[in-house]
Amino acid sequence: MAGEPQADCLFCKIVAGEVPATIVRETETVVAFRDINPQAPTHVLVIPRAHYRDAAALAAAEPQLVADVVREAGEVAAEEKVHGAGYRIVFNTGTGAGQTVFHAHAHLLGGRGLAWPPG
Ligand code: C5P
Repeated sequence: MAGEPQADCLFCKIVAGEVPATIVRETETVVAFRDINPQAPTHVLVIPRAHYRDAAALAAAEPQLVADVVREAGEVAAEEKVHGAGYRIVFNTGTGAGQTVFHAHAHLLGGRGLAWPPG
């Protein structure tokens, strides 16, 4: 069923506590944890507990969850004190865009200058 945990999904396992992660915030709907391969001084992944393959699928099925993810990314940015200088919220969508884990997630990146356009 849409949104149900998937046995072969790494991020579903993090949500279930079966794979360790450094969790920085948790709500009823969202989990935020540090990326194991950080690309900036602050690099936190914010994921819905529910499983959807990417942000567009999440938005189509449960639009409120997209708002929850973005709001929590903003809360993490404030906690990490990167909100003043600016930060980036990225949803890589599809392999060509660099998506490697097919459970919707936002990358929150901050703590350094962020060039535009991205690579
Ligand atoms: O956008 P993309 O799908 O590539 O992002 C997946 C992210 O998940 C990567 O930045 C990777 O470092 C991170 N990751 C993690 N913990 C894991 C496996 C992957 O933080 N156990």
